[in-house]
Amino acid sequence: MPKKKKKTGSTGRFGPRYGTRVRARVKSVEDRMKGRHTCPQCKAKNVTRVGTGIWKCDRCGNKFAAKAYVPETTSIQKQISEESEEANLSEIEEQEG
Ligand SMILES: [Zn+2]
Repeated sequence: MPKKKKKTGSTGRFGPRYGTRVRARVKSVEDRMKGRHTCPQCKAKNVTRVGTGIWKCDRCGNKFAAKAYVPETTSIQKQISEESEEANLSEIEEQEG
C-alpha cells in the first residue's frame, strides 16, 4: 500500500507542535504569502514578497509597500473605515451643536 502523503505543507517545519488549527491557519496565510500576486502597475501575476510588507513585480520591477502577508489593496476596507469616520464626526458635531 502506498504511503499516505503528508498534508503539512509549509507548516511541516513545526512538526506536531502548536495544534492542528493553528498550523492550518499559518498554512493558509503562508500559502497566500508565497504565491504570485497581481501587480497594481502592469497587472501581471508576477508579484513576489521581498520582506515584511515589501512586494516586487518581477515583470516591470515595481517595488511597493502593501500588507505584510498579502499585497492586496484595502480599497473596500478603506471605504468602510472612511464612512465610519464620517459617521463618528457627524455624531460629534451633533453633540457639540
Ligand atoms: Zn508589474
